[in-house]
Amino acid sequence: MVLVSESVSISIFGRTWIPVAGKRTGPQRRPRPPRAAKAAPKPRFRPKAAARRPPHLERREIWYVIQVIRTLLFCPSQAMFSILMGSVLERLQHVHGEASWVAYFKRQYLCQAAGPAGMLSAVWWAGVLSKIQPGYPPSQQCAEQLNTKVKRDMETLPRETHAQVCQSLEKVIGTWSATLKKGEEMLDTPKLALTAPSRQIGMDRPPDPDDWMIHGKSQVLLKPGAIQKRFPSIPVILQQMRTSNSAGTSPFFESVQLADGRSIICVAQHRPEHLALGRLRHLRKYLNTTDSQTLCDMFVEDGILERTDVEAAPYRFKLKAYCDIFDKYCLCFQLPGQRRFVCSCWGFAWTGMCTHAFATEEFMGIRQHVPTAVPEAAAVQDDAVSDSEPTPKRRRRQGR
Ligand SMILES: [Zn+2]
Repeated sequence: MVLVSESVSISIFGRTWIPVAGKRTGPQRRPRPPRAAKAAPKPRFRPKAAARRPPHLERREIWYVIQVIRTLLFCPSQAMFSILMGSVLERLQHVHGEASWVAYFKRQYLCQAAGPAGMLSAVWWAGVLSKIQPGYPPSQQCAEQLNTKVKRDMETLPRETHAQVCQSLEKVIGTWSATLKKGEEMLDTPKLALTAPSRQIGMDRPPDPDDWMIHGKSQVLLKPGAIQKRFPSIPVILQQMRTSNSAGTSPFFESVQLADGRSIICVAQHRPEHLALGRLRHLRKYLNTTDSQTLCDMFVEDGILERTDVEAAPYRFKLKAYCDIFDKYCLCFQLPGQRRFVCSCWGFAWTGMCTHAFATEEFMGIRQHVPTAVPEAAAVQDDAVSDSEPTPKRRRRQGR
């Protein structure tokens, strides 16, 4: 490449080079096509496309659906969940005309097995037969509790500027990761450190009951949805179990032993209640049945589903009738190969433990949680003068 003077053209290998004064030579460029007329300038701030908002219910209150979700969250088996949730959605779609909302809800919050009759399920379903580990249900509580903790601990620290916020955060993180002082874990007051003794850390179920479960009579627990439910303590349930009637069985509980040695017990979840005859067999049949038509017939018989004339939505779900059975009574049973009992109540699914399961383990002689009562002086005197078998009344008083 060389600089050449004007009015001289060079031909090399059949290509013409046109010299340009003061500029480097190069292959002849094709002339550019004429530019089209200038387009109108684009607006600097283009309006954003309307955000796709989820559809809202138009003819039915959302509170009804929330109530259904709170209830079916602890539905014992997947087949039961599928039928009841399916009947609610079918009715919303075909009777109330909420097809777009139903499609959205199914897509976002439910899973359906392949096939026309595929069962509905949900990752948030935490019933006793679900794969979710007891005590670890899906919850936003962890994030909310952390948010509360951050705000509370930084309340008195400087946080006017970003730098101050970072410094304050650094300070509280140091406190959170500090080792818990000896005995501090026993205090009821809020603790600054987030660490815990090694025996209190684990992914298993809590090994021991809480204090109120042993020493109190009952405790009000908060069910998801801000519903207060009173749970009886272990001694109260044990007393119910040991109060036998003339037929040798307690009116407050039923038990059955399977051929492989495992036991199943049915008790009332909240306040002591006489069980209707066959309640255990009834609940057990619900948990064991997977055939849709059989389950539907059982639901209809118990008034939980009501038949309707609409072909596309043949059942109407009766929430109260469902709660009258599955929120009132629970089954404690052993899973194959396990000694410890699990329970079908919501408290067990939510916290990983409940007084029903602990009391059943104690009643069956698997574990002891309630300390043996110290015999009263009068009882000791009676024992001293008589070698006869203790009366049932004294046996109960001694906690045997
Ligand atoms: Zn329970």
